[in-house]
Amino acid sequence: MKELLKKLVQAKSTPDVGELKCAKVLADFFSSKGIKPKLDIWNKNRANITTALKSTGKKPALLFVSHLDVVPADSASAFKPVERSGKIFGRGACDMKAGMASAATAMAEILRSKVKLQGDIIFAATAGEETDSAGVKRFIKTHKNKFKLCGIIVPEPTNFDLVTAHRGLLWVKIITKGKSAHSSMPQLGINAIDSMRLFLSELADYKIPGTNKLLGKASISVNKIIGGKAGNIVPDSCSAQIDIRTIPSQNAKQIVAGINKILTRLSKRNPRFRAELKVLRDSGSLQTDEKCRFVKHTKQLLKKTSRAVPFTTDAPFLTSLKAPIVIFGPGKPQMCHKPDEHIEIKDLKKAVEFYKKMILHFLA
Ligand SMILES: [Zn+2]
Repeated sequence: MKELLKKLVQAKSTPDVGELKCAKVLADFFSSKGIKPKLDIWNKNRANITTALKSTGKKPALLFVSHLDVVPADSASAFKPVERSGKIFGRGACDMKAGMASAATAMAEILRSKVKLQGDIIFAATAGEETDSAGVKRFIKTHKNKFKLCGIIVPEPTNFDLVTAHRGLLWVKIITKGKSAHSSMPQLGINAIDSMRLFLSELADYKIPGTNKLLGKASISVNKIIGGKAGNIVPDSCSAQIDIRTIPSQNAKQIVAGINKILTRLSKRNPRFRAELKVLRDSGSLQTDEKCRFVKHTKQLLKKTSRAVPFTTDAPFLTSLKAPIVIFGPGKPQMCHKPDEHIEIKDLKKAVEFYKKMILHFLA
């Protein structure tokens, strides 16, 4: 188990490297346990891996979906896992190679125990959760309407909190256009930074309607701004990247329309104002029905109450599989993407036990 996690950390799976190496580590692990893996490879270095433990098929299946990719690290040593004081350090140790290794190990242990399963265990690990969600989209495309599922577990680090809701994410980029001129005669140009300033002050008053009992309200944060060429040139272009976190009653289309309204208003008021909007990323929110059988049983079984988290995952893509989704896994969320990212070894074992318990409850 520890060894599998270390190998997974070593198999660097940052966006520049791709996920194939990491998927192959899992494939080797499953093969060595007598479980046949299936790799889906594209663009040379990108990959998903899926596998299943077959059953009598009398009960609907349980699906585990992890992500193979990790965020980049400042130092190459982040990909040399270190075991120290009961912890394993390394990029991805927490987010989310620990949860992925735990789910894979739980499957292998169930097979070894020779328990008769009435429903299949399906395992998928996909590419690009931190960037483009390309892997989960591919997985959905090929597997939609192929499974009958009782539930989906996403083993992301929740520190064993049972998570049933999170906000969605919408990244937009606003580019204001101007006209260069010598800044001793600014009246000859159109200052794109000035235009951005007009836009941002209007955006500050923009409220996205709606509130949610579990998730609160949407948030808007301007996180990156680029503009200008030199200290004495009127800038002809400026761009701002905005991170919007949404709740289930909101959708990207409405919000984009709201922002476009601001842009139209500004250009009507000021004929020199020119701007365009680009959607960089759009991923929905998650809210699993608390009253469904899967969540009710899971709460009882694990002695947990359900809650929401501020971060997003690939889980909203999985809603098209029409099964209840819970996010539940080892590791503290605040450890994710940190230079000293690590996982407690005892939490790996705890995760395997939790997953086996769920497998036996829903599938045996
Ligand atoms: Zn993650």
